[in-house]
Amino acid sequence: MTLPAALIRPEIAGLPTYNAGLALDRFKARYGVECLAKLDSNENPHGPSPYAVCAIEQAAAGVGAYPDAASLALRQQIGEALGHGADRIAMGNGSEDLIGAIFRAVLRSGDEVVTISPSFGLHEFGALAQGARVIKHPFSADWRFPVEDICRSLRSKPRVLIFSSPSNPAGPAISAAGFTQILNALTSDTLFVFDEAYVEFTADAEKLDAIGLLADRDLTWASLRTFSKAYGLAGLRVGYGVFSHAAMVGAIMKTRNPFGVNALAAIAAGKAFADTRHLRRSVSQITEERARVAEALSTKGFEVAPSSANFLFFNCHESGQAFAEKLRDKGVLIKGWLEEPFLNYARVTIGTPAENNAFLQRIPI
Ligand SMILES: *Cc1c(COP(=O)(O)O)cnc(C)c1O
Repeated sequence: MTLPAALIRPEIAGLPTYNAGLALDRFKARYGVECLAKLDSNENPHGPSPYAVCAIEQAAAGVGAYPDAASLALRQQIGEALGHGADRIAMGNGSEDLIGAIFRAVLRSGDEVVTISPSFGLHEFGALAQGARVIKHPFSADWRFPVEDICRSLRSKPRVLIFSSPSNPAGPAISAAGFTQILNALTSDTLFVFDEAYVEFTADAEKLDAIGLLADRDLTWASLRTFSKAYGLAGLRVGYGVFSHAAMVGAIMKTRNPFGVNALAAIAAGKAFADTRHLRRSVSQITEERARVAEALSTKGFEVAPSSANFLFFNCHESGQAFAEKLRDKGVLIKGWLEEPFLNYARVTIGTPAENNAFLQRIPI
């Protein structure tokens, strides 16, 4: 029996399936080879803080009880570190959950959402799912953020401006001057969602105190962060957002899944957040490797975009999909990009030195 075509909303029927990385068990079942390097989802190859794992083990027997729907202890802990009250912080089932919750809270059909390209899929598809129109401004040829184009678009007061910095998948972080230029062009009618999923990997010299800069202005904004990348907790699904207004957090609490952050996730995220030593150590190992892999890719003739994150975006001079597929046959997972005009690009996560070598030794294919 076929599903009646009218049942699914047209905005949803038209969306592509999310281009997710391949889970390890699925990879083995499908390719029949051992995975040598899983470099397709920007996970931390060093894993989470051991304190987080230990806390999960200890709390496991307590999962019969519902967690605190408000995740108050975790929001207080994060809020204290960032200098904002818990009422300005929302937790989500990953920060992707918060992106969806924000869009559901503010977007009406026909609204305008401005973003950049290449872009993080959900910034676009989450908006399309609400019936919004998405305007994408591409990076310049030398990988500078399209600040002028964004500012021009802001004149028509779109409902939302959303992009990530460091950018997934391209890698660069926006300059302080570019960020300020955007803040100057914004009005409080536009919600600025600044996705900082990779902020921990940015070198101190180019680190932007985005929350500080935003808090100085009379604007409407959210800064999104996650435990999935530098904190190594992707499987647990925890992210958070700092918002300009407690009332925005109130609205998000209504549009997200009430118990989205489960008991084990909340407790482990708190431990991971406190373990700054583990964070610093894995970030420094990854950024060191990032420089080495970028250099090796360039030497092999692939043009690589500058990266302030834990991955590299490079031109593979053929379909990125085909390139990634050939590497999978050899046990290495990377992500071929599926967005025009970047179909000849692929994104590789920085793994352990052994994983990175497994990747580098197998290219060009
Ligand atoms: C990975 C990522 C996220 C967050 O993912 P979650 O696992 O849902 O927290 C958000 N934004 C960008 C740009 C990302 O790359």
